[in-house]
Amino acid sequence: MTALIKIISEEEPIVQKQLEEVEKATSVCKMIMAAWKLGQMLMVMLVEEILAQRAKEKTQWPNCEKCGNQLQSKGFVERQILCILGTIRWKRRIGRCPKGCHIGQIAPLDEQLAIAPHQQTSMELKKIGSSLAVFVAYETAANLMKQIIGIELSSSSIWQWVQTSGKQAKQWIEKEMLEMAQGQMPKEEQIEAIACLQEALAIYDQVFPANHPWVTKLLNTYSQLLLKLNRNNEAQPLLDRIASLNLSD
Ligand SMILES: [Zn+2]
Repeated sequence: MTALIKIISEEEPIVQKQLEEVEKATSVCKMIMAAWKLGQMLMVMLVEEILAQRAKEKTQWPNCEKCGNQLQSKGFVERQILCILGTIRWKRRIGRCPKGCHIGQIAPLDEQLAIAPHQQTSMELKKIGSSLAVFVAYETAANLMKQIIGIELSSSSIWQWVQTSGKQAKQWIEKEMLEMAQGQMPKEEQIEAIACLQEALAIYDQVFPANHPWVTKLLNTYSQLLLKLNRNNEAQPLLDRIASLNLSD
């Protein structure tokens, strides 16, 4: 028995069972599929262990947004999130206002880890699902995800992600355009705006068809900003895209 197999074989019964599946596999293909599942199990355990360590670290309690008193710990509460590895579970401290203000449960660790209060799915999984949905129907995207990464999802979840990311990107673009229209941006903001527009275009290109009105609007904003900053070389490919869209109309 190799050192690695020995370590894994001492793990929980469910992991041992999966290890046996790999060992008993009658073809390389079956062996790889079983090993993939085993790998996901072990990675879930690893991530959960690290999250448990993080949760034990001292919590810096923020002040209540309503009364300003420092929040107090109400103990550990379980949190879970679905990601490309499977479902990750861990416990972290939650706090409440000592004066009883209605601000809900606050989990500083969630914020540190960039998780939104009611987020149930991790970003990388949403990104894969949304990207697949650009090319195939939502139902097929869900099936492909099950086949490729072994994670079961409903087609309506993927539909929901695409709608949400589209809406967020749209709100964000409108804010950017408003700020641009309001006058000259300072140098740092221009750099930031370009980086954001670039990122937004990458998202739009994944989520929307090439001739979608939001894409055209974004291409216009982005190219205008680049021209304003005399970055004509960078603006040209965007202007070419706009021209080709106008031609195909
Ligand atoms: Zn309060």
